[in-house]
Amino acid sequence: MSKYEQTLSIIKPDAVERNLSDEIKQIFILKGFKIAEEKKLKITKNEAEKFYQVHQTKPFYNDLCNYLSSGPIVAMILEKENAIIDNRNIMGATNPKDAAEGTIRKKFGLSIDKNSVHGSDSAENAKIEIDFFFKN
Ligand code: UDP
Ligand code: MG
Repeated sequence: MSKYEQTLSIIKPDAVERNLSDEIKQIFILKGFKIAEEKKLKITKNEAEKFYQVHQTKPFYNDLCNYLSSGPIVAMILEKENAIIDNRNIMGATNPKDAAEGTIRKKFGLSIDKNSVHGSDSAENAKIEIDFFFKN
């Protein structure tokens, strides 16, 4: 077990498709994260529904699950002190239009749905999401 905090990051289909994975990974590394684990994969709609089940009552749930399962993604365990909150800050606001200058979503996000990256929002969800992708 690492002594540092871990969080789950996903490079979403819109960013993988535009070949932005290496550039996004480099941003995390320059900000002091270690990429402890990483895998490129394509998930099914069913898996996307499970991953995003906290949003199952939201109007955007179905489109969101179609989108996350629409093409390859890169799932990563990011590690550093305060990894969860620091990753959220580096990602920027959910809607790229509202994201601060210098954030990943400001730089690369296309729209509120195609916003290039996912990051766990709490210690509890980080554990659930890391297990989802990396616990066999
Ligand atoms: N999303 C969307 N429409 C909305 C809100 C969210 O398509 O009105 C998508 C978007 O891709 C977002 C994901 O659903 O990243 C999960 O939403 P959440 O509110 O958890 O945002 P995040 O934690 O990703 O910033
Ligand atoms: Mg969220």
